[in-house]
Amino acid sequence: MLRKKLLVGNWKMNKTMAETTAFGHASFELLRQAKEKHIDIGVTPPYLSLQTLLNINPKLIIGAQNVHHLPKGAYTGEVSIPMLKELGVSWSLVGHSERRTYFNETDESCNLKVLALLEAGMTPLYCVGETLTEFEKGVTKKVIKKQIDVGLKGVKDVKEVVIAYEPVWSIGTGKNASKEIAEDICGYIRGLLEKKYGADAHLVRILYGGSVKPNNIKEYMDMPNIDGALVGGASLSVESYAELIENM
Ligand code: PEP
Repeated sequence: MLRKKLLVGNWKMNKTMAETTAFGHASFELLRQAKEKHIDIGVTPPYLSLQTLLNINPKLIIGAQNVHHLPKGAYTGEVSIPMLKELGVSWSLVGHSERRTYFNETDESCNLKVLALLEAGMTPLYCVGETLTEFEKGVTKKVIKKQIDVGLKGVKDVKEVVIAYEPVWSIGTGKNASKEIAEDICGYIRGLLEKKYGADAHLVRILYGGSVKPNNIKEYMDMPNIDGALVGGASLSVESYAELIENM
């Protein structure tokens, strides 16, 4: 297997520290289950819960949901990469559609974050995806190409990046993309990377995200260019997380 399967739960603005603690204690069983199936698993909790989870189970992949690209300065409300690194956080989402929609993130600002994370030896999980209007207009590939070209501009070692294809119309809506659509776009992304990076493109893990549930995750995992899933709602409960692993 060229690429190890990967499951990442994006908790968004959910779970208090007490709730995170409960999940953390239950996560040892999740890790055991994932190890048996040769799957890497992780979560991206809110900043306040990162330390809590790291203290309980540092063997999980624990990522932030966002970072600032500068190491420090007058940016009220922001969190920097050195701060996260000091905690032991090694991953961060970049460009999740909710950040692009509600917090004006652009491909250009995502690019700064991707480069800064790589420079710090951390893994960016870079999210791309088209809106419903773009999907209906048939311009998905054009949108994705720009997101990949601009977001990954200047990246030298692409295998250190993880990509998630998340059509905006499928996130939190219950309307998951068909496995054919997801595979078409994940394959397209790999093709774009191949043109630029050659064989290294085949080492990059590309996830699908958007209303992935225990009852549909297997469909995606059977596709050649989909290496795992970025999951919101269905990653919140330990039971559902365990079912996702089981069905991958
Ligand atoms: C997400 O938050 O990235 C996501 C895909 O959410 P959901 O699984 O709830 O659609």
